[in-house]
Amino acid sequence: MEKKQSRETLCVQAGWNPKTGEPRVLPIYQSTTFKYDTSEQMGRLFDLEESGYFYTRLQNPTNDAVADKIAQLEGGVGAMLTSSGQAASFFSFFNLCSAGDHIVSSSTIYGGTFNLLAVTMKKMGIDCTFVDQDAPAEVIAAAIQPNTKVLFGETIGNPSISVLDIEKFAKIAHSNGIPLIVDNTFATPINCRPIEWGADIVIHSTTKYIDGHASTVGGVIVDSGKFDWDAHADKFPGLTEPDPSYHGLTYSKAFGEKAFITKATVQLMRDLGAIQSPQNAFIINLGLESLHLRMERHCSNAQKVAEYLAKNEKVAWVHYCGLKGDKYYDLAQKYLPNGSCGVISFGLKGGREVAIRFMDNLQLAAIVTHVADARTSVLHPASHTHRQLTDEQLIAAGVAPDLIRFSVGIENANDIIDDIEQALNA
Ligand SMILES: *Cc1c(COP(=O)(O)O)cnc(C)c1O
Repeated sequence: MEKKQSRETLCVQAGWNPKTGEPRVLPIYQSTTFKYDTSEQMGRLFDLEESGYFYTRLQNPTNDAVADKIAQLEGGVGAMLTSSGQAASFFSFFNLCSAGDHIVSSSTIYGGTFNLLAVTMKKMGIDCTFVDQDAPAEVIAAAIQPNTKVLFGETIGNPSISVLDIEKFAKIAHSNGIPLIVDNTFATPINCRPIEWGADIVIHSTTKYIDGHASTVGGVIVDSGKFDWDAHADKFPGLTEPDPSYHGLTYSKAFGEKAFITKATVQLMRDLGAIQSPQNAFIINLGLESLHLRMERHCSNAQKVAEYLAKNEKVAWVHYCGLKGDKYYDLAQKYLPNGSCGVISFGLKGGREVAIRFMDNLQLAAIVTHVADARTSVLHPASHTHRQLTDEQLIAAGVAPDLIRFSVGIENANDIIDDIEQALNA
């Protein structure tokens, strides 16, 4: 029997398995198209009767190798790369919902996902109710309606650094016959595998830690293969009833445990086209090869910075789930025992204006929109990523007006702390 490989080994080796004489390193298949000997062979591919490459909008060998590596890391049955994390979020929702449907989401989520759910998908006739993820299960379950198709949350909320009780959410979803989708961007599969706790679909912005070098925007959707679509056939006709765009093929019958990810690929990607480029997939793979090493350093550095901030008298508050006494410390011990992420949120005494001045005085840490890469960076969400939100929405999203999102990189922790200290004293 083949031994199940550890995450570290999967990071380095999974996905690309060259045969004798083939390149050791994943090649970039920079080709839109693939050649066949007979017209009949090609026809079978279009009818999904055979699997094979024909056009990079649907599938490409470089992308597939990287998707397969991430699927193995998350413990899923299949995955699909997308051009961005936003595309991964939208596709994962839209693969299950159509006009007239409804989503229940945690309120402490990424600002872009909040806009997608609260504004853009609403225009498509798909409504969303936001809930306090820390509320008792009965309160959250009460938001679920007969037309609800998805429950959604982030393992670690960006930027509030809330920790999702994934088991609680999975129970609520499953007892209502709907899947749980978890955005695992900040934790990465190194620190948490939501599928092991009951999540059905896992998504990532690979732009963050997975790439890790702030060079490539991308996303991925991973299918656990565990949700029984046919058991709730009336809720998910897109998966359990014939698709007229493939001569009446039914995904749950034709593809079994891979029904969700196959539909996302052959239907949504075919029609909406937010593909990852093979060039960028190659770069994402380079990031994956060192993900396990980088996450360790991000987390140990962030722990030191958080402890420094917690002791500093100029600091009003610090949220980092690795800090004893943090609201999410116990949940982090359960779901993230080896470390959470490199992102800390904190506020300074004196509020918003002092925060802005502090950020302007940082030298090593740069003000950028980005988080979660090798270089330490900083952002003021109320002025930047979350500026579309009202004050009420800011509070619900866990974004205090004075919140500074500090993304600790993999430099020397003492240098990062020295930079914070000089900026606090300036
Ligand atoms: C950045 C981010 C996204 C969006 O990803 P993009 O790659 O920027 O489109 C989604 N979810 C979380 C948690 C993020 O941090």
